[in-house]
This record gives sequence, structure tokens and C-alpha cells, in this order.
Amino acid sequence: MQPLTPDRLAIHTMTTKPWSLAEACEHYATAGVAGICPWVEHVKPVGADEAARIIRDSGLRVPAYVRGGFFVHADAAERAAAIERTRGLIEEARTLNAEMLVIVAGARPGVPLDDARAMAADALAALAEHASRAGVRLALEPLHPMYAADRSCINTVRSARDLCDRVSHPALVVAVDVYHTWWEPGLAEQIAALGREQRLAAFHICDFKAEFSDVLLDRGLMGEGVVPIPDIRRAVENAGFTGLVEVEIFSTRYWAEDQHHWLARILDAAREHA
Ligand code: ZN
Repeated sequence: MQPLTPDRLAIHTMTTKPWSLAEACEHYATAGVAGICPWVEHVKPVGADEAARIIRDSGLRVPAYVRGGFFVHADAAERAAAIERTRGLIEEARTLNAEMLVIVAGARPGVPLDDARAMAADALAALAEHASRAGVRLALEPLHPMYAADRSCINTVRSARDLCDRVSHPALVVAVDVYHTWWEPGLAEQIAALGREQRLAAFHICDFKAEFSDVLLDRGLMGEGVVPIPDIRRAVENAGFTGLVEVEIFSTRYWAEDQHHWLARILDAAREHA
């Protein structure tokens, strides 16, 4: 496999959370990184039109806008509001010239998981045609089962494929994040199936540490944890994926460091451990 050099990477702005969108664009581009995945939190302060201009001027590609979904609510009005919010994000993704909008299905304590999956399927069915017309794919990202109580009822690549089958629309694709899926039995076969189905849209890297202090905000840098990242990347490339590999790391520990130093460490770790 080729080493993961900066020209093959996109970075999620949440990875360098302290930087504004303009700072992230400037520093990623200077480091030779090929793409940026803006998070809503970094677009909101300037608005989508200005964000689009900033990104365009940087020359960075935009594989994905992050993130919509969270469709699971016991209350029908709240479900409708979640669909409308995601509809607005599809329009922002179009403005940003993003290839896809990342979707987290959602989950709520008290809503049985099978009901939650039905709610997510209904919402995605309602949005897929709009996304298709906007030229934005919806990239469903399964989350690790430790988030099944309150973030996502889709916790494996297999269950993401099941939901895609249920919605049955070419605009609905899947994002594979090593943090969430590394443990899945038969992961390489699941990734191969995504490739055959033309649904393998994104590959996110970081690392899963055996011991962590926070389920959300203590992710590891590539090489710090237990994930066989090169093996998973091999499966992803064998499945036909040729897109930019996305670095996505939430870490209060790393956000507290000098972000220039942090970015340099990320690029080294991608080369050496991914
Ligand atoms: Zn991810």
C-alpha cells in the first residue's frame, strides 16, 4: 500500500476544534493536505456562503459536510423538525460543494432500537430524492454500540447496509469509521459488500484506545490504540475506494495543545500508522 501522505487526506475541522474555518483552511492547505470536512459548528459562525468562499479560495476539496440526521424522537413533531434540519444541511452541503453529508441515524432512551431504525429509514426515504437533486450523497455512519442508547441505532456496517436496502435509493451510501467498526465480526467482508453495492463513500481514521477517559472526547491518534488501521485500509482500497481518507479525532487532550504541533503529529501518524 502507498503511504498515506497529506495529498491523500482530508481533515475534519473538529479534529482541530480551536481553529476557525479560515484558520483550518489556511493551515491544512499550507501543510499540503488535500481536503477539508467542515463541521456545522465551524460553518455556523460565518454562514455557508462565506464558508464556501473561504474553502474555495483555499483550493481544498470537500469530501463531506458533517453532520445531519439524529432522526429518532418519540414525538412526531420533533422527528419532522429533525428531517427539516437535515434538509437545510443538504442545501448547505450543496453551497459548500461537498460531495456528501454525513448522517448519524440517532437513538433515544425509551425508543426501542427497531422502532428507531424504522424512524431513521422513514427520514432517509423522505430526504434521499432531495439530496440526489442537490448532488449531495447521504453518508450514513454507523457508530460504535456504546452510543446505541442515545446517538445511533445503527452500530455496524451490516446494519447500515440493511438500512440502505430498506431505503433503496442510490443517494444513500455509507461512511466507515475505524473507531466505530474495527471490532465488527467479518468487517472486511462487509466492506467488500459495500464496494460491490457502490455504497462505500467515506473512510474515517483515528484510533480506539483500550483505556479512555471519555466515550466521545478521548479518541486516539493513529498508532495509539488497538485498531489494525492498515488492514482496514487495505480492505477499503480492495473494495474500490479511491477517495480522500478522512482524519476525524475528538480529543480534549489534543485540543489543549498547540494545534500546529498537533497537525504535524497527525500527518506523521497517518504516514506511519495508517
Ligand atoms: Zn467518523
